[in-house]
This record gives sequence, C-alpha cells and structure tokens, in this order.
Amino acid sequence: QWIYLDGQHVTKENAKVSVFDHGFLYGDGIFEGIRIYNGNIFKCDEHLDRLYDSAKSIQLEIPLSYEDMREAMAETIRLNDMRNGYIRLIVSRGPGNLGLDPRRCPTASVIIIVEQLAIYPEEAYINGLKAVSVSQRRNLPDALNPKIKSLNYLNNILVKIQSNLAEADEAIMMNAQGYVTEGSGDNIFIIKKGVVFTPPCYLGALEGITRMAIMELCEKLGLKLKEEPFTMHDVYIADEVFFTGTAAEVIAAREIDGRIIGEGHAGPITLRLLEEFRNVVDKDGYK
Ligand code: PLP
Repeated sequence: QWIYLDGQHVTKENAKVSVFDHGFLYGDGIFEGIRIYNGNIFKCDEHLDRLYDSAKSIQLEIPLSYEDMREAMAETIRLNDMRNGYIRLIVSRGPGNLGLDPRRCPTASVIIIVEQLAIYPEEAYINGLKAVSVSQRRNLPDALNPKIKSLNYLNNILVKIQSNLAEADEAIMMNAQGYVTEGSGDNIFIIKKGVVFTPPCYLGALEGITRMAIMELCEKLGLKLKEEPFTMHDVYIADEVFFTGTAAEVIAAREIDGRIIGEGHAGPITLRLLEEFRNVVDKDGYK
C-alpha cells in the first residue's frame, strides 16, 4: 500500500507524522472521504471544492494547487492499482510547537490514503439498520461549523459511543432546538406519503456530496423533495428513512428508538434511489 505523504509516496510502515503536528495535537486540519468507482474519482470537483473551502475558512493554506491535488490523488490510485475503493485525503496544519498558534506551523501536511472499503454487508441494504437518537447535539455554526469538514470529530465519536452502547448501527443527531440534523457520519432523509424530506444543512448538518447526488436523483425520477426541518416524531412515523454518505451510499433504517419504520426493511423508494445511485456511479458517475 502506497501512501502519499507531503509530496512523496511511502509504504504504510513509513507513513508517519510528527507528534508536533497540530492535526494530532489539536485536531487542527481538514479531510475528505472520497469514493473510487471503476478507477475513477467520484465527484472529485465537489470534494475538492469542499476541501479548499474548509481550508479557506480556517485560514489553512494547502501547499498544492487544485490541479496538483487532483493529480496526487490520481497517482496514488494508480500506484495502488485501485479500481474500487476509498480515498482519505487529509490536510493538517502541520508540525509546529506545543502552542496553539497556527503561525508556528509553517507548512500544512498533505496525506492521501487509498484503501479498500469496509462497508455494510450487502444484506444490510435490504434489511436496513437499527438506529437510535442520541443526546449529543450537533454543534451549531461557529468554531465547529458543520460546513467545515475538520479533523475534530470528537462530537461524532461520542455519538458513535452512545449508539454502540445501545447496540445500534447508526445514530441520529439533533441540534440544540431538537430538530433532526444528520447521522454520526451520514446525512438523513425520510419519506412520507411519497414525499422525500431532508433537513436543511443550516440546522447543523454537513453539506454531504451523496446527499446532493440523491437530491438530484429525486428530481430526475420525478420524486417530490422538500428540504425542511423535522423532529424525531416525523422520523418515527415516516414510511421510509435512509442515510446517505460516501462510504454507506444509500442505506435504510429498519428500526429507530424501538419503533419499526414502515415494513421493517428497506422500502421501495429507498431501494429505487440506491439502484439509480449505483447506476450513476457505475456508468458516468465521476467527474
Ligand atoms: N455528515 C457527516 C458528519 C460526515 O462526516 C459525512 C461524511 O463525510 C457526511 C455527513 C456525508 O457526506 P458525504 O456524502 O459527502 O460523504
């Protein structure tokens, strides 16, 4: 396995970063998770846009141009001979001293890891997941603005711990007002009487790239889609509920907080969207 580390490709054993890297010391940095389908980078521009926007917002200068970054990813995919997999692209503030001040970190560090993906087993896409709502609140816009895909995922990890304790596969987060925002690392959609709903991102959700792809598919399929706030009550009484994300793609929930959703397995609209999504990524889904 070849890993891109600051301009060079090194083996996994040699892919090491400094203990003074502020990504390690403070979670000061950003990342992207990206899919490779048939050797192509899915929605590459969208991921790079989000990465460079996150960087600008936290005043982090990425030492590679947009084009060089694209080339570094392509080269890492080639070296690893990867047809279908996952890219983890990380830009950390880089090595500095123990102080918080980012001015002490002269150069950001860029890491690209390409790997096979451990996703849900295929039957989970039919059977659906068990999910629970959690007490952690999705941070509202400020330092942990959900629009910034930062390396600081402690909140999401606390969410994961809570869902593990409940022996659930996925969690549902709300914001401080009790409106549903997203999963631990996925966006959420619900379907009621044929209408598809997803929370607006301003409530406190990452602007997911899979979310956007699914919204476009809804339009293409003539499904009515509404971006509007909803609560756990609406989730419990929905006909279908599903999560979207780069790793998970489109996956239903069969049970949430002990309530059975719809028929207790993936519903027809969710399965239709998953099928269409997979058609798109197999055919011409890369840019
Ligand atoms: N929400 C959070 C908190 C995430 O970490 C992710 C994964 O990147 C998503 C949603 C889904 O976003 P995407 O579809 O771009 O992978």
